[in-house]
Amino acid sequence: MTSRKIKKVLVANRGEIALRIMRTLREMDIRSVAVYSDVDIAMPFVRYADEAYPLSGKEARETYLEIEKIISAAKKSGADAIHPGYGFLSENSDFARESEKAGIIFIGPGAETIRLMGDKTEARKIVAGYGVPVVPGTAEVVTNLKEAADIARQIGYPVLVKAAAGGGGKGMRLVAEESELESSLRGAQSEAASAFGDGRIFIEKYVLGPRHIEFQILADFHGNVVHLFERECSIQRRHQKVVEETPSLALSPAMREEMGKAAVGAARACGYVNAGTVEFILDEDGNYYFLEMNTRLQVEHPITELTTGLDIVREQIKIAEGETISMNQESITRRGHAIECRIYAEDVYGNFLPDTGTLKSLHEPVGNGIRVDSGVESGSEISVYYDPMIAKLGVWDSTRENAIGKMIRALDDYVITGVKTTIPFCTFVMKSGPFRSGKYSTHFVQENWKVDEMNLTSLSQEALDRAVIVAATRLRGRNRSSLQTKNEGEKPSRWTNGRFEG
Ligand code: ADP
Repeated sequence: MTSRKIKKVLVANRGEIALRIMRTLREMDIRSVAVYSDVDIAMPFVRYADEAYPLSGKEARETYLEIEKIISAAKKSGADAIHPGYGFLSENSDFARESEKAGIIFIGPGAETIRLMGDKTEARKIVAGYGVPVVPGTAEVVTNLKEAADIARQIGYPVLVKAAAGGGGKGMRLVAEESELESSLRGAQSEAASAFGDGRIFIEKYVLGPRHIEFQILADFHGNVVHLFERECSIQRRHQKVVEETPSLALSPAMREEMGKAAVGAARACGYVNAGTVEFILDEDGNYYFLEMNTRLQVEHPITELTTGLDIVREQIKIAEGETISMNQESITRRGHAIECRIYAEDVYGNFLPDTGTLKSLHEPVGNGIRVDSGVESGSEISVYYDPMIAKLGVWDSTRENAIGKMIRALDDYVITGVKTTIPFCTFVMKSGPFRSGKYSTHFVQENWKVDEMNLTSLSQEALDRAVIVAATRLRGRNRSSLQTKNEGEKPSRWTNGRFEG
C-alpha cells in the first residue's frame, strides 16, 4: 500500500450524509464534488459542494444507483476518491471495483470484503470460523420446504427467515410455528428477489427479548484494528432503527470488553480495512451473537463521534490515504452519554408509513451539546423518490439523565411543518418508563406504542400545522416576556429602534 494524498472527493450520495461528509472534506482542505438527480437540483448539499454534476433522472436506479454515470462524473471532475456514504451504492462491490479500476480510491473496504460481508450466510461462516458466536441457524441458504422444516424443528420455534442479501429489515419473516413456515419462506423469498435481485434465504433462531448492540470499528492497511465502543439501537420499527444511544445500559464492563474483542475479531476475519460496524444481537440472558457487518459509514455514527471526540469521516479518509491509525485500543476513551433520534417524514400514528410534502417551516434546535445533521431547509421537498429522512438529532451530555432531558427539550424546540414526523414518537420514547430505566428491547414499539389506546384528537394536518406555529410563536413570546420581567425595576434598555443609544 503506497500512501497517496486525497485532494478531491466525489460524494456519491445526497441529503444529510452528503453534507456531513463535505463538511469534513472542507475542514481537511479537500475539494468536494456532488452528483445530483433532477429532484435534488436545489438541495443544500449541491450548493455546498465545490463542484456539482447532474445525474439526469429522478428515480434512484437511474441516478444514485447508476455506477456508470457516477464513475463518469468522477472522471470528468478529476476526483481522486469517491465517498459512498450509506445506502445507495455504499455496499455494492461492483461499484468499489469499478472505481478502483478507474484509478479512483474507494473510501471503504475492498470490493471482495464488501461482497463477502454483504452475503449474510458467507459472513456468518467467516466470523464463526474465527470463533465469534453467531445466531444458531442454517450454515447455507435453504432451498426446499422439507429441509427448512427439519432445520427449524431442530433450532426450535420461533425462527426468523432472512434474506442472504438482506438489508433495511427487508426479506425478513418471523415464524412462530411450523404451519406458518411455507408462506413465510415464499413471502421472504419474493420480497428479497424484488428488493435485492437475489431471493436466497436462510433460517436463524429468533432471539428472545433481543437488544441490538453494535460496535464501530476502524481498520487500516497495516493490520491495525480498533473499536470505538458500542451503540445500542434497539428502538426500531419494521426492524429499522429510530433511536440510538451510547453507552448501552445492557453491557457490563466485562461484556463490553468481550464484545469489543469479538467485533475486532470479526473485522480481522474478513481482512477488513476502513470504518465498519459489527452488529450483534443480545439475548435476555446476556448471550451475544453476531448478526451482520455493515461495510460502510452508519447512519448513527454521530453518537460515537459525540462521545469519543473523533471524526469518523476524517479517520476514513486518512485510512484510505494509507495512513496508520494513530491510536491504540487503550488510548481510545469516551465521555458522557449521547442519544440520536432520527427525524423521518412518517405518520407515527399510522403504522409509521412514510409521508411526503414540502417543508413549510423549519426551525432546528440549537444549544450546548446539540448536533443536527440535516440536509434540508424551509421549502425543501420530501419526495417519494428517496428515503424520507429529514434529519438526525443528536445530543451529548455528561450523564444519561441529562442527555434525555436535553433530547426532550431539543425535540420540543424542533418545529417542522408540512409533513408528519417521528418527533412525537421520539418524545414518547424519551419519557417512557422502559427507556428511562434502560430496560427495553427491540419489542419496544409493539409493547409500548399503543396508538389504539391513545387519546388522539382527529386534527387535520393543516390544523396541526397551525397549532405548531402558534406554539412556536408562543415560545418566542415566552422568551420575550421573560426578558421584560427581568428588566422590570431596572434601568430602561438603551436599545431603541434597533440602535444602541449609550
Ligand atoms: P438488515 O440487514 O435487514 O437490517 P439485520 O440482520 O441487521 O437485518 O436485522 C435487523 C433487525 O432485525 C435487528 O436489529 C433485530 O431487531 C432484528 N433481528 C434480526 N435477527 C434477529 C434474530 N435472530 N432474533 C431476533 N431479532 C432479530
